[in-house]
Amino acid sequence: MGFNMTSTPAQASFDAVRPGEERGSEARIARLFEMTSDLLATISLDGRFTLLNPAWEQLLGWTREELLAQPIEAYMHPEDVEQTLLLMHPGTREGAQLESFTNRYRHRDGSWRSLLWSARRDGETWYAAVKDVTDRLWLERQALHDPLTKLPNRLLLMDRACQALTRLHRSDGVVAMLFIDLDKFKAVNDNLGHDAGDALLVGIAERLAELMRDSDTVARLGGDEFVVLAEEIESAEEARALAERVIAALERPFPLANAEVAMLASVGVSVAHSPEANPEEMLREADQAMYRAKSSGGKRLELFDEGLREELSTHIEIGGRLREALPQRELLLAYQPIMPLAGGAAVGCEALVRWRPQGADRLSGEDMLPSTFLPPAEESELIVQIGKWVLHTACAQAEAWRRAGITIPISVNISARELIELDLAERVREELAYCRLPGHALCLEVSEDSVQRDPERARAALKEVKRLGVSIALDRFGSGKYSLGLPSDLPLDIVKLDRGLIESFDRDKERRAMFAATIALAREAGLTAVAVGIETNRQLALARELHCVVGQGFLLHGPTAPTEVRLKERVWSVTSAPWRPRVRLGGSDRR
Ligand code: C2E
Ligand code: MG
Repeated sequence: MGFNMTSTPAQASFDAVRPGEERGSEARIARLFEMTSDLLATISLDGRFTLLNPAWEQLLGWTREELLAQPIEAYMHPEDVEQTLLLMHPGTREGAQLESFTNRYRHRDGSWRSLLWSARRDGETWYAAVKDVTDRLWLERQALHDPLTKLPNRLLLMDRACQALTRLHRSDGVVAMLFIDLDKFKAVNDNLGHDAGDALLVGIAERLAELMRDSDTVARLGGDEFVVLAEEIESAEEARALAERVIAALERPFPLANAEVAMLASVGVSVAHSPEANPEEMLREADQAMYRAKSSGGKRLELFDEGLREELSTHIEIGGRLREALPQRELLLAYQPIMPLAGGAAVGCEALVRWRPQGADRLSGEDMLPSTFLPPAEESELIVQIGKWVLHTACAQAEAWRRAGITIPISVNISARELIELDLAERVREELAYCRLPGHALCLEVSEDSVQRDPERARAALKEVKRLGVSIALDRFGSGKYSLGLPSDLPLDIVKLDRGLIESFDRDKERRAMFAATIALAREAGLTAVAVGIETNRQLALARELHCVVGQGFLLHGPTAPTEVRLKERVWSVTSAPWRPRVRLGGSDRR
């Protein structure tokens, strides 16, 4: 069966159907055999091609003579040889079929083509129809794998989790999911560059893969989040031990181009005992446990348990109700003045959000504090909606006060999501224009944690906001254990010292020293330090002794309704009795 390399398949097909020309059916079949772009072959039981159509030459770049001269494994990927030969073994019974079987063949240029086989054994011969699925497999792989680390992505992880849970029918063990988050990975990206960050992620992927068994799946969800799906685990305790090994493995230094870094990881573990478990829910539980591990200081593991299950369902319930809170006008702003510690009228005023659920199914008798409802809101877009409402309401209030002759700036807290995801500067600019306010009528407060989520974007957003004349405060400084110095790359005007620092003044010398050092640093950098949480005269005296000149606290003025807040008067002086609110707005005014 010759193949004329000079005649094109189209020409050949024209020849095949030329009218009036008599051809036998065998000749026509032979012609079709030559024309089809599908790969057709016969293979002898001793593993040699005996017939190949021309499509093979086009696909693989070898001549048919070359292909026929060698056993079939000669051009096959070494990893695929054993299985292919096993399936086509002479012992395989007469009439046996091969369906949906893929293996790889080498092109003349050295690349690999993936072939999908349909074959049937008839007598001493395998008759095979073969398709080139290289591109399709590549696309499928792309859709299911993370391009950087080549690990399975979330889609594939969920699929594998489904299969693992189904297999629980046949075992007494459990399926475990480990949600791994790298504490301070962002710092590597920031300080050593993105290439180093990428190399580190690849190194972490390799180390995790080394640690796991073949039956386990290591996936990357994106950013610095990895998930391990472990099967063939006996108990929750074994899953915990595995998480400990993960933490220890990541602590061993990773060599990068110009540095060595060890990673501290927070790991959340969820465990399923029954095939009815839901993989998405397992992932959510592991994530929740990881979040708990991270907020307890990181470099630790947390198992999802009943306590966390309750917390999660409260979050879901509160999140659902909160969605209705905005349209139903159930959110309020309380205002807390920021006072000079030498006495006198307010120099600023912070807007603090409250939720007063209405109707019979109120969640509680009092206004709810942000610590109850902002964490669930922060898990979704809801926080951005709330943030927009807060900014708008606070600006409208500032305008009303300006008309009454009160010109102090209003401070608004900005969440991590708003800082990273929104076009913050544009929104602030629009709000200022709408309320006809100058930039200096507003101050945005951002916490260290929020900035840490994506320092680069946070920095860029804040710089833009700053150009509008708005001042920027670093909030809750000293609440994390990492804050040893002031970040020099943020466009700051104010540093607000976390109220935990003042709270522990009496018992904790170290924190007192940190308070004093921060005030000195702030002064040197030309920033205003605000002592937050002054509740007692002793705390006030100490803050003043440490040269802090501005403060915020229940002793000076609690958070209250806008109609009750006293901004103009000299409501407090060092010698007078401390200010006491007449009306409570929100439970934070707990005296
Ligand atoms: P923050 O920005 O550090 O606000 C100061 C918090 O300290 C307020 O709690 C205030 O009521 C409380 N506080 C002030 N003085 C004292 C004191 O002497 N003693 C005690 N024990 N507490 C005092 P609040 O209102 O519960 O807010 C908690 C946090 O929620 C805020 O901390 C802020 O991070 C966040 N938050 C509040 N409102 C908003 C908002 O509108 N948007 C966003 N994203 N976060 C908000
Ligand atoms: Mg604040």
